[in-house]
Amino acid sequence: MAATKALAQPLQNADELIDSVETFIFDCDGVIWKGDSLIEGVPETLDMLRAKGKRLVFVTNNSTKSRKQYGKKFETLGLNVNEEEIFASSFAVPAYLKSIDFPKDKKVYVIGEDGILKELELAGYKYVGGPEDGGKKIELKPGFLMEHDEDVGAVVVGFDRYFNYYKIQYGTLCIRENPGCLFIATNRDAVTHLTDAQEWAGGGSMVGALVGSTQREPLVVGKPSTFMMDYLANKFGISKSQICMVGDRLDTDILFGQNGGCKTLLVLSGVTTTAMLQSPNNAIQPDFYTNKISDFLSLKAA
Ligand code: PLP
Ligand code: CA
Repeated sequence: MAATKALAQPLQNADELIDSVETFIFDCDGVIWKGDSLIEGVPETLDMLRAKGKRLVFVTNNSTKSRKQYGKKFETLGLNVNEEEIFASSFAVPAYLKSIDFPKDKKVYVIGEDGILKELELAGYKYVGGPEDGGKKIELKPGFLMEHDEDVGAVVVGFDRYFNYYKIQYGTLCIRENPGCLFIATNRDAVTHLTDAQEWAGGGSMVGALVGSTQREPLVVGKPSTFMMDYLANKFGISKSQICMVGDRLDTDILFGQNGGCKTLLVLSGVTTTAMLQSPNNAIQPDFYTNKISDFLSLKAA
């Protein structure tokens, strides 16, 4: 039987945690920003960690932007973050394709937004689909057969506000008619917070449609899967026990850190409340929790 993880402890001595690791992986939405607004105290906290020589990495499951586009977002928010430190689930798609030597003469069918297209293009992969398929309708006539590009060797599904039946059918044909076709998901977040006022159907809803029609499970490249963690550990040559994963969500961020064998810190500046953390229905316990990352500046040993 798997050992039960101890209940999360409120962070009391930030310096002890900071000194115990060499790298911090920060989730973005709910930790660094909320929508388009910077969370209080973030610039000073990142500056302090850099001054202590910590490596900082930023990971987001939001595949709608490319690494370059996120670079602009950090800049607009006044944060000094290098593109090389940013790992979005959009970037993880070609990173995964490269890791398995996906042939460059094959194509990727994309259900998703601009970020995935930009990253595929930059990495030299051919693709079809994307937002432009959002306007397409299937006109059923007697004997009608929908065609698909037989060079498609992978279907990638991410969050897509242009999602429609055409895309479900196209992706389904690619996967069902070619047993070798890969099925890749950027993430499976059930809900997302496009606005503060309510929860919105997340990337998991688009992935779920294709799971339903193909009866196949996708390979997930974003959090909480181990692909991105392995990629980061290899890229930077870091030991996972020297990483602290900081996030606002239990089933993506904290699980991502735990799956990777990292230390984990939950912040309450995003979607998770203490009631959710402490609910008897919640089995995912981070090592520590605190209100926001700028608590690093004030929580000192007594
Ligand atoms: N997916 C979408 C579409 C989002 O809008 C967001 C948050 O804004 C996320 C995923 C989660 O992003 P993160 O991993 O940075 O919390
Ligand atoms: Ca988050």
